[in-house]
Formats: sequence, C-alpha cells, structure tokens
Amino acid sequence: MLLQIHEPGQTPMPHAGDNLAVGIDLGTTNSLVAISRDGKPEVLRDPRGRSLIPSIIAYKTDGAVAVGDDARLVLLDEPERVISSIKRLMGRGTDDVKRLAGSLPHELAPGRSGEMVKLVIGDRVVSPVEVSAEILRELRHRGEGALGQSVTRAVVTVPAYFDDAARTATKDAARLAGLEVLRLVNEPTAAALAYGLDKGAEGTFAVYDLGGGTFDVSILRLEKGVFQVLATGGDAALGGDDFDHAIAEHFLAQSPGAAPSAAEVKRALFSARLAKECLSTQDSGEWWIERDGRRSAHPLDRATLDRLLGPLVERTIAICGEVLHDARLAVEDLAGVVLVGGSTRVPLVQRRVAEFFARPPLSDIDPDEVVALGAALQAEALTRGSDTLLLDVTPLSLGIETLGGLVEKIIPRNTAIPVAKAQEFTTYQDGQDAMVVHVVQGEREMVDQNRSLARFTLAGIPPMTAGAARVRVEFAVDADGLLTVSAREQTTGREQRVEVRPTYGLPPEDMERMLRESMKHARDDLARRLLTEARVEGERALLALEGALRKDSQLLSAPERSTIETAVARLRRSVQGEDRDDIMQAITALDGACQDFAQRRMDHGVASALKGLTIDRVERDMAGGRG
Ligand code: ADP
Ligand code: MG
Repeated sequence: MLLQIHEPGQTPMPHAGDNLAVGIDLGTTNSLVAISRDGKPEVLRDPRGRSLIPSIIAYKTDGAVAVGDDARLVLLDEPERVISSIKRLMGRGTDDVKRLAGSLPHELAPGRSGEMVKLVIGDRVVSPVEVSAEILRELRHRGEGALGQSVTRAVVTVPAYFDDAARTATKDAARLAGLEVLRLVNEPTAAALAYGLDKGAEGTFAVYDLGGGTFDVSILRLEKGVFQVLATGGDAALGGDDFDHAIAEHFLAQSPGAAPSAAEVKRALFSARLAKECLSTQDSGEWWIERDGRRSAHPLDRATLDRLLGPLVERTIAICGEVLHDARLAVEDLAGVVLVGGSTRVPLVQRRVAEFFARPPLSDIDPDEVVALGAALQAEALTRGSDTLLLDVTPLSLGIETLGGLVEKIIPRNTAIPVAKAQEFTTYQDGQDAMVVHVVQGEREMVDQNRSLARFTLAGIPPMTAGAARVRVEFAVDADGLLTVSAREQTTGREQRVEVRPTYGLPPEDMERMLRESMKHARDDLARRLLTEARVEGERALLALEGALRKDSQLLSAPERSTIETAVARLRRSVQGEDRDDIMQAITALDGACQDFAQRRMDHGVASALKGLTIDRVERDMAGGRG
C-alpha cells in the first residue's frame, strides 16, 4: 500500500464484517496471542493458564512435532532435535547465515549461494518458514481453544529492523499456518499503542525493547491519539540469547577441556538462561553444566553477572543515544520510557535505562505481553473499529522534484489523511512552455534517494520570462490512501492530473528501510541540499545574466564587460566544485559586478516602457505611487 491506514471510526473498516482477528507477538524466544474487545485487550491462555508459548519446536524421532513447553522437554534429552531462536533465520539466505553459524547450534543443510537457509533435524530438512508456521499454528489453536471459535486472521508483529525477506517469510509462515495477515506491525509501535491507549498519555516516548534475539528502540510521539514515529534504531542480533551466551561461555571457561560439543553448548545455554532469570530476583546461586560426560557446579552472583552482561547492555544504551540524536532530541524532551521484552527484567538493564534516560522507566504493563496486547488492539481496529483514536497518517512524505534533483515535500510524513495541499511553482527559463512534474515519496532531500511514484508533463504554458508563470501543484490523498496529483497553470487554466494508485506504492518493508536511511543520512543530506541549492542559485544567476547580456549588452562599457566576465568565469568554476561557501561568495561577487548594469537596464526598461504609454496613464500611476 502506498499509505497505511489506521483510522477506526472514520475510514471504512477494511476488514469489517469478517470474523474476529487476533494479535500475535511472534517472538524469537516466546510467542503470544491476544484478543481485544471494546478496546480492552487480553492475552489468551491455555487451560493451565499459560500465556507464553516458548518459540521452540522439536521434530521428534517418531515424526511428531512438539511446540513450546512440550518441545522444551525434548531439549534435555535430544537437544539436536530441538530448534530455538528460529526468528533470527527468517528470510536469511545461506550466505547471511555463515556469519551467524557459530552462535546457532543448528546443523545447516548445504545450500547454494542465494538460496534460503534450511536446517537438518535428524532425517528431516526444514526451512525457517515451516518452523515458524508450527509456532503460529500452535498460537492459532490456543486462540481457538480460548475463544471457542475458529481464528483465521491476525495482526502479527515483527521487529522494526526486519527486512523485505524476513517480512515476507513471516507472512508466508502465517499463511502456512492458516492465518491471513491483516497487517505486520512493528513491535515497538504495538507496545506504544498498548501504553498510549491504556493511559491516554501524551508526549514523546522512547520504547526500549530487549527480547531474546532482538533489540529495538523507537522514539514515538503520542499526541491526541496519533502516533508518530520520530526515529527507530536497534540491533537485530542482540538480546537475551546473547546474555545466555556470555554466561554459558563463562561457565564453560571454568571447566576447560576440548571444544564443547553442540549438545554441551545447548546444556550450558540452558543453565545460563536459568541463572540469568533467577538472578533477576536473587543475589546469587549455583548452576550445572556438563563437560565430557561430567557435571560441574558453577556459582554466579549478581556482581559477576553485571560484569558479564555489561558490554552487551552498553551496546543497547549507545544505540539509544544514536536514535535520540537522529530524532534531534535530548533525554529531557522525553515524557517517558517504556520497557518491553523479557530481558528488561534484568536489573542491570533497568538500572542503565533509568540512568541513561534520567527517570524510572514505565513497566506497568507486563513487558512480555505488551506487544501482543498492542497487536490485538490493532487487529480490533482493523476488523471492527474502536473508539480508540488512531488516525490515518501518511507514512512517508510526498513531494515533487525541483531544480537540481532536490525534493520539495508537499505533504510531510505523518500528516493525517484525507488531506489536500497545494504549492505554487514557476518556470526556470525564459520562454519555458512545459514543466515536468515528478512525484516522489520518501524522506531524503535528493530525488534519486527517494521512490519515484509518477511523472507527467504539463505542456502549453504560455511563454513568459523565467519565474513569471504560476503553476499550482496540488496533492490530494483520500481516506483510502489514493493519491491524486494535479498541476494547473494559473493564467491559462491548463491542467494535468495523475492518479497514483496504491499498487505503485511502497511495501511497508521499503518504507521502514527508507525511514531508517533518512534518519541515518539526515545530516549528510542537509549538507548536500545546501550545496545543491547553492549550485542552482549560481546557475540561475548565470542564466539570468546571459539573457540580460543578449538583450542589453550595448549598455556596458568594455572594462565593465570584462569585470563581469571575470566574475562569471569564477562562478562557473565554483558551481562545478563542492564548496558551498565558495559558490555563495562567487554569486555575491557577480551580483556586485552587475549592480550598475542592472540599474542601467532598469532605467532603460522604464524609459522604453514609458514610450508606449499615454501621459494620462503615467500621471495616474504616479499619483497612485505617491498616495
Ligand atoms: P522475544 O521478544 O525475543 O521473544 P521475550 O520478550 O519473550 O523475547 O524475552 C525473552 C528473553 O527474556 C529471554 O532471553 C529470556 O531469558 C529473558 N527473560 C525472561 N524472563 C526473564 C527474567 N526474569 N530475567 C531475565 N531475563 C528474562
Ligand atoms: Mg518481543
């Protein structure tokens, strides 16, 4: 879709009349399913009251597949038949995975370069899509059990950093599990939704989400129920799993021997994770690992844990700093920090987040559930509407190309729709009789870094001097996200319009990437924009002077002429260069050199204009001028 729509109550509900839809947090470590009714979301539980389904799948020897806690049981006896953290492999090709192979105790099926990665489990070969589909199927069944009716639609959350391939893989997995994905929602956004709606909070918030396999931080503005994402950042390969690895390595290093086997690593990771979770509430304890068939005991206390996890936690804090910087915000500009994800239960994480953001973080919604609850709210909004205010906004800015490949934004991103905005443009050259309207979408300053949506020509502009024509370009986005662009020359009324259909639009994953890039490049872009503007200004000055010389060169003496020519040559040289200040100085110098000439041209112009007027008219005009 070109423009994402979330406007319960105002836009027609895109999925109204269908059966209900659930919200799913498909986590690296744990997954949940939730439902919202009348704006009140709740997680769905099994008959034993459990809401989290560990994202673990066991392909058992007898051919049966176990998911969640049942699969976890298999982990101890037959760890090689159990797959965890599959989300890290979603959408990954065999080439990407070589880098991760060390941190993933799975056997990878040999695959050609460019192929989707596959895992070998006993005599089976499975893809991450199939494995994730098992989890989604389990979630669907849990939902159906709890609701007593069939579940076929869902809003599924994904990390903000998921790329095209990973998002597509997630959708494919859902389809395989019998679920239609109404929308993929970024996890931090879902969390903010849950918080914002529960509390009616206003202001700018940071969402710090540290799960098992991913870290996301987003800066969101909640204002009158409208969500605006100001900046996002994170690390797709940083989370509680890495905490477990750091602790497991510490344990394994304490009982030296040959390189540990895959099963020994899994065993050590299991203990490491228990140790970590225990130490969130206890000060110390002792855990077991196995080396060469022998068990050994390893004590661990909070201080040692903090030392092991410190570098990983600091990486998240550094990313928080970068994201705030991208959003041009200081910590004091924030109204709060939201904690999401199981790993935010680690006391060191809470302490460092509180220190960095200079306030205690919000954590009153269960950090495990908050994402699923937000997804459920979104699912309800898409199927039945709700009173909760979630306005439709344009997800990316819409604009047109102007001189020098710059983008003039006409509708900035996060503008509530429907909306119509117009702006006037003019011609660049004397006698220019056509204008190309190039419609682009994106946040970057230069056309070639944004997405091109449409291009059309407005012809038949009456020849006029440069800058005299008035072309009004209007952008209108209707409630369904359909963009219409029209251009109208004001004196003749000549008009051209084009409809930009959603199919020409941007897949959400491109959008995410483009947003991220725009944040990252904002500073370079500004410098480039200033340089380009200076060049355009310089070219314009040269062009204007050329025209003037062609018409009125007889008004110049030979020495005046040569001074101007020197200034022209200097400006010509500097517009080729990269130095904006140099260009601006050259423009000023040329202006100076032409001052007398310009004055003389004006006098000359007035004199020749007067010749064609009756005395009567001149007197009237002069009287008006005095009055
Ligand atoms: P994901 O979103 O990646 O599925 P979760 O938000 O469910 O992850 O978080 C899972 C991570 O949280 C795991 O690494 C788990 O060990 C960790 N975790 C859960 N409970 C605790 C706890 N009490 N203390 C420390 N870490 C915890
Ligand atoms: Mg999560």
